Amino acid sequence: MKIMNPEKPSLHVFELLESEVRSYCRSFPTVFTRAKGCTLWDSAGIAYLDFFAGAGALNYGHNNAELKKKLIAYIQNDGVTHSLDMATAAKEQFLEKFQTTILEPRGLSYKVQFPGPTGANSVESALKLARKVTGRSTVIGFTNGFHGMTLGALSVTGNKFKRRGAGVPLHHTVSMPYEGYMSDEVDTIAYMRNYLQDSGSGVSLPAAIIVETIQGEGGINVASAEWLRSLEQLCKEHGILLIVDDVQMGCGRTGTFFSFEEAGIRPDIVCLSKSIGGFGLPMALTLIRPELDIWEPGEHNGTFRGNNLAFITAAEALNYWETTSFANGIAAKGKLLHRQLQEMVAAYPLLKGTVRGRGLMQGIAFELEGIAEKVCERAFTKGLIMETSGTDSEVAKVMPPLVIEEAELMRGLAILRESMMEIAAEQ
Ligand SMILES: *Cc1c(COP(=O)(O)O)cnc(C)c1O
Repeated sequence: MKIMNPEKPSLHVFELLESEVRSYCRSFPTVFTRAKGCTLWDSAGIAYLDFFAGAGALNYGHNNAELKKKLIAYIQNDGVTHSLDMATAAKEQFLEKFQTTILEPRGLSYKVQFPGPTGANSVESALKLARKVTGRSTVIGFTNGFHGMTLGALSVTGNKFKRRGAGVPLHHTVSMPYEGYMSDEVDTIAYMRNYLQDSGSGVSLPAAIIVETIQGEGGINVASAEWLRSLEQLCKEHGILLIVDDVQMGCGRTGTFFSFEEAGIRPDIVCLSKSIGGFGLPMALTLIRPELDIWEPGEHNGTFRGNNLAFITAAEALNYWETTSFANGIAAKGKLLHRQLQEMVAAYPLLKGTVRGRGLMQGIAFELEGIAEKVCERAFTKGLIMETSGTDSEVAKVMPPLVIEEAELMRGLAILRESMMEIAAEQ
C-alpha cells in the first residue's frame, strides 16, 4: 500500500470512488491499517482506543490471539471455507459447543437456524417463521426499535430517516410504545393489552412482537426485567410469538450471554449476529423454540449461510463462557463505567447529561442538541472512537470490546471527560 502523505491520511480515494452512502468514515476521518485488542491504528501510525467495537461485532476485541490462532490453523489445513448449508466439521463443532456451553447450562431449548450472515438476515427469517407458524401477518415493533436495513427489518424499525430509505410503504406492522416512551407513569404493556383486547382498536392480533431488551441504535433505552416479563405474559395470553432481537445486546454486551437472562424470560425466537462469529466475521443465528421449527427444507436459504471461518472462531469464542469469570468481569467493568459516567455528568451540569444503559452498553444522553456529536468528534481528535445513537444522535455511546482491561477503560474515560470539559467550556 502506498502512503501518499504519512502525516495526514487522505480520504481522497473514498470520496472519489465510494458511494455517498458511506457514513462511519465521515465520523472517523482517517485510514485504518491495523487493529489489536481495543486499539486501531491509522496509516500515520496514530493509535485510537476503540469504544465502538464494530457496533458490537468485536466483543472479544480486534484480532483476538486465541481466535486468530484457530482460524489460521484451519486455513493452513485447507479447511472448508464456503459450504452453503452442507454439513461440515466446523459447523458440527460449533453446534455442539453452543449446545453444551450456552443453551444447556441456561436450561434453554432451541433449534439453530443459520439464516445468512447478517443481523437483518436473522430478523427476516424470524418474521417469516412467526407469520408461517401463526398464519397471521401483522408484527408489532417498538418505538425507537432498530432491526436492520432490509424491507422486513425496516418495517419494524422506528427511525423515520431509515424507514424512508425503503422507498415503498412498509406494511403489516404496528409500532407500539417501548417502556418509558410516553412517560414513566404510563404502563405501556397495559396500553398494548387494551389494543389487543378491544375489538374496536383497529389493531389485529399480531403474529409476533419483536423487541430489543436495550435499544442500542435507538438511544440506549433500557427495558426493565419487570416490563419484559409483562411483555412475555401478554404474548402468552394472546398466543403471540415473542422475538428477542439480541443481535447487538447478545454475546455478553449487557453482562450475560443473552441479554434477557436477568429477566428470566423465554423468547420463542432469538436473533443473534454481530459478535456470535467472535472475530468480526459475518455470522448469524436464529434460535427457534423446537415446536415452532416448521420450515420446509430450503424454504429460507442463502449463499453465505456456511461461513466456516466464522464457525471456527465462534466455537473458540464460546470458551469465554465456560466459567463465570468473563461475565463477572463485564459486570465489574460495567459498574465502574457507570460510576465514572455519573461523575462526568455531575461535573459538567451545563451539558445536561444523563447516564443510560448497563453492562458494557452505556452512554450519556444529552438534552442539548448536537452535544453528543460534538463530544464524540472531540474525543476522536484525542484518539478515542465513540459513536452516537438515538433518533437525534443525542446519546454518546460507550461500548468497548468486553475484553478491555480496566486501565484501558479508564484511559478512554479520561479522554471522554476531557472532551466533555472542553465542549462545556465552549457553550
Ligand atoms: C445491527 C443490528 C441489526 C442488523 O444487523 P446487520 O448485520 O447490520 O444486518 C439488527 N438488529 C439489531 C438490534 C442490531 O443492532
